[in-house]
Amino acid sequence: MEYVTKTCPICGSEFVVLEKVEGKAIYCTLKCLSVAQGKVKREKVSTVISV
Ligand SMILES: [Zn+2]
Repeated sequence: MEYVTKTCPICGSEFVVLEKVEGKAIYCTLKCLSVAQGKVKREKVSTVISV
């Protein structure tokens, strides 16, 4: 099996994923995924408040 090294956009750490799931694996852990999703929600809310 082939492995690909990726960099997590949330915490910046490198992690290794299987090549066939590389497109789906963006964050190193589910924790970082939830942080990313929470960030998007917060940005939307702050946009609503500023408008
Ligand atoms: Zn991470």
